[in-house]
Amino acid sequence: MAPASQSNSSVPPAQLPYSKQAIDDDDIAAVAAALRCPLLTQGPTVARFEEALAGYLGAQHVSACANGTAALHLAYLALGIGPGDEVVTSPITFSATAAAALLCGARVRLADVEPDSGNLDVERVERAIGPATRAIAAVHLAGLPVDLEPLRALCDRRGLWLIEDAAHALGAEYRGRMVGSGLAHAATFSFHPVKHITTLEGGAVAVADPRLKDRLDRLRQHGIERDPARFERLAAEPWAYEVQELGLNYRLSDVACALGLSQLRKQPAWLALRCRLAARYRERLVAALPAVLPPAVRADRRSAHHLFPVRIDFAAHGRSRAQVVQGLAARGIGTQVHYIPLFEHPLYRRHGAGERLEGACLYHQRTLSLPMHHSMSESDVDRVVDALAEVLS
Ligand SMILES: *Cc1c(COP(=O)(O)O)cnc(C)c1O
Repeated sequence: MAPASQSNSSVPPAQLPYSKQAIDDDDIAAVAAALRCPLLTQGPTVARFEEALAGYLGAQHVSACANGTAALHLAYLALGIGPGDEVVTSPITFSATAAAALLCGARVRLADVEPDSGNLDVERVERAIGPATRAIAAVHLAGLPVDLEPLRALCDRRGLWLIEDAAHALGAEYRGRMVGSGLAHAATFSFHPVKHITTLEGGAVAVADPRLKDRLDRLRQHGIERDPARFERLAAEPWAYEVQELGLNYRLSDVACALGLSQLRKQPAWLALRCRLAARYRERLVAALPAVLPPAVRADRRSAHHLFPVRIDFAAHGRSRAQVVQGLAARGIGTQVHYIPLFEHPLYRRHGAGERLEGACLYHQRTLSLPMHHSMSESDVDRVVDALAEVLS
């Protein structure tokens, strides 16, 4: 057998996906130790993970839950969003941001985005607000924060809740403040393996108000209240608990939280690596492919670089996006499109959110997410840019 290092053109290059997890020996040891604990779920590791995450974010309170979609659903429910209400959000997001509002019985209204960043345009949000609007759900696309201060001021003026879908934005900063530290009423995170840190499946909601934290904790566990001081009618018997409202089972296990604690310790170094990879991409793209635009930047914000979405005028290069995706795949490089606008999907068209918004169409037509994750090196970035130059030439 040929040695692995031998250069051989018949050997396909290593697959470089657009994103993936990094699990090392301390993560595995942390999970193994958690599996030997008496409580696999509903034990003490959940609160430890929540406190560590709150510490990292500079948040008052964190409630961990089953996944990022559950986090959004719980956040909307805890804020009282229900039938007759409307949530304004971005069309350039994963379905869950809007679907979680539909699951509450609310309606979804899409507002247009900035064509260079794919983030909500605050003026367009203001115009989308109607008499039934109760909340704005803002997505920090690819890790670049939306313009939070004017958005929060708008919400305060109009008496609306501001929810951040921060699934892409763990570690992102807006005017020196961490996303999730209280600029919005609630910030939701996902710990799916493609995100910054993973608990396999997992999510969390960060809030400032302790009453919201209590409500999130109750809703993720069947609406059950265990503190007898808060019982509405049952006596404080040793076994008693009260089901006070309609909730779900959206818990995150202690084993998952042990993995989350181990992953979170690496997050600062991983974020620094992502920033270096992004800088390398910019430098190489400017030199080799000036017509390929790197992700938008804003001087008052730090992106968490969950994704590295470039913008390409495919027609000007005489290539379709599918040809570029296939050309890169043939060179072992994975890409993804974030996202097909929600108004193109049958579900949202059926729910009256089918209007095609111009900024979102423009953003969507040109976007392509190149590999960005913490198992990459700067030479992987060079490989991606070289491959892209070949495919576009
Ligand atoms: C991943 C993601 C979610 C959903 O998170 P899950 O953990 O997969 O349920 C929601 N919104 C955005 C923007 C995401 O990227």
